[in-house]
Amino acid sequence: MKLPFALAQRFVAAEKFKETIPKIKAFNEKNIKVTLDLLGENVQEKSMADETVDIYIQLLDDIQHAGLTSSISIKLTMIGLDIDENYCRDNLFRLLNKARDHGSFVRIDMEGSAYTQQTIDIFKEAFKEYGNHVGIVIQAYLHRSGEDIPELADLGADIRLCKGAYKEPDLIAIQKMPAIREAFKEYAKILLEKTPFPRIATHDDELINWTLHYTSENNIPKERFEFQMLYGLREETMEQFARDGHHARVYVPYGTMWFPYFKRRLMERKENVWFVMNTMFKK
Ligand SMILES: Cc1cc2nc3c(=O)[nH]c(=O)nc-3n(C[C@H](O)[C@H](O)[C@H](O)COP(=O)(O)OP(=O)(O)OC[C@H]3O[C@@H](n4cnc5c(N)ncnc54)[C@H](O)[C@@H]3O)c2cc1C
Repeated sequence: MKLPFALAQRFVAAEKFKETIPKIKAFNEKNIKVTLDLLGENVQEKSMADETVDIYIQLLDDIQHAGLTSSISIKLTMIGLDIDENYCRDNLFRLLNKARDHGSFVRIDMEGSAYTQQTIDIFKEAFKEYGNHVGIVIQAYLHRSGEDIPELADLGADIRLCKGAYKEPDLIAIQKMPAIREAFKEYAKILLEKTPFPRIATHDDELINWTLHYTSENNIPKERFEFQMLYGLREETMEQFARDGHHARVYVPYGTMWFPYFKRRLMERKENVWFVMNTMFKK
């Protein structure tokens, strides 16, 4: 059954790239950068993974032609991680060749824990070859992040730090919010100390205020890190960050395969269900 897009539009910018352009321009005009994400995951057919890489390559061209300040985010299962790791890495490198030619940037989103090790392995290979044209995401709720963060920070990798959006068992991930927040802070300190430009991806006031306080106490200038939030959430806060001279970036998802992303947003916060209901009934 195809669900109406109206349901998702609180969190998903559009179904087609063209329709995202005015929205991205509006962010850029407010000094807010964008990361575009073509939605989709767990592709099982090579033909579809190949096609997805072509679409991403075209997207890098389209972003440039439209004059947008936007990088892209991808999921490795969109470009063949479920099919074969080497095939997926080759697909990523094909995309990164284009990103390097363009002087643009590709972030590898982090998916469920079944993919963490492979994602980090592929990222490390890509980082060796493409340096700061590629970045990764680390999820603070994973127990293993206590080792991954220092290792990737020592490489000087470009890391987006977030809490983690997938349902994971206690053996794999911290379950309680206060402990996730403590882990987030500990990792943010390491990233702020050791990496050139960490990305703090959260809507959580406690973590935002902690970051503002910690960076000011430790004389870490605003130019050295970035706040990131998801499309549809806390836009006014992002505008305020930009006005205050902070780097601010919104993650803008689009595409027809929006359902899994939309479901994760509903699951993580009950207020998000109300946002969606409001959008529906205002129409
Ligand atoms: C840019 C970006 C990229 C991401 N990439 C990934 C990824 O690659 N992999 C992955 O697993 N996850 C990713 N995530 C999702 C992330 O892991 C969390 O699931 C998600 O951000 C929710 O956690 P939170 O810290 O933002 O706030 P929550 O834990 O949802 O909320 C904590 C508190 O923050 C405040 N708050 C939250 N939302 C609002 C709001 N709209 N208005 C006012 N206050 C609010 C409330 O006080 C709330 O109690 C990404 C998130 C962002 C922002």
